[in-house]
Parts: sequence; C-alpha cells; structure tokens
Amino acid sequence: MMDCERALRELEAYLDGELGAPAQVEIERHLLGCTSCFDRGEFRLRVREIVRRKCGFEAALPDQVAVRIRRIISIEAEGRPGG
Ligand SMILES: [Zn+2]
Repeated sequence: MMDCERALRELEAYLDGELGAPAQVEIERHLLGCTSCFDRGEFRLRVREIVRRKCGFEAALPDQVAVRIRRIISIEAEGRPGG
C-alpha cells in the first residue's frame, strides 16, 4: 500500500521514468486519491517543464511519463467538484 511518505520519496524516480510498471501504477493511483501529493507532483512536473524550456537539456521528462502525468492531471481537473 502506497502512503504519502513513500509516494513523495518515489516521486522523483517516477518523474524520471525509473519506476517499474507496478510502482508506476501504484503512485498514479495514490496521486489521484491524494490532493497534497498530487499537487506536489504537478508542481514538480511544471518546474521540470520550465527548466526544460529555459535550458533545453536533460531535465526533460521521458515522453511516456509526461504523457501519463498529463492524463492524470486532466482526469483530476475533470473530477474536481465545484470547478
Ligand atoms: Zn499522499
């Protein structure tokens, strides 16, 4: 079972695409159910995108990870009560 402490500890590896498939799914499930970890994940993602845009080097996310995270963000945005 993924708790916040573990989710945050593995967030960097997740964003780097270094987690295996089961851990990836676990952390995504946690992010969808946990606003505070989700916000942190989204924050990190945005920081990386800004760094990538400014520096253009390997702070870049692996493409498949970026796609997964964007999908989670859009699911979260649609699911948020009261807009
Ligand atoms: Zn959490």
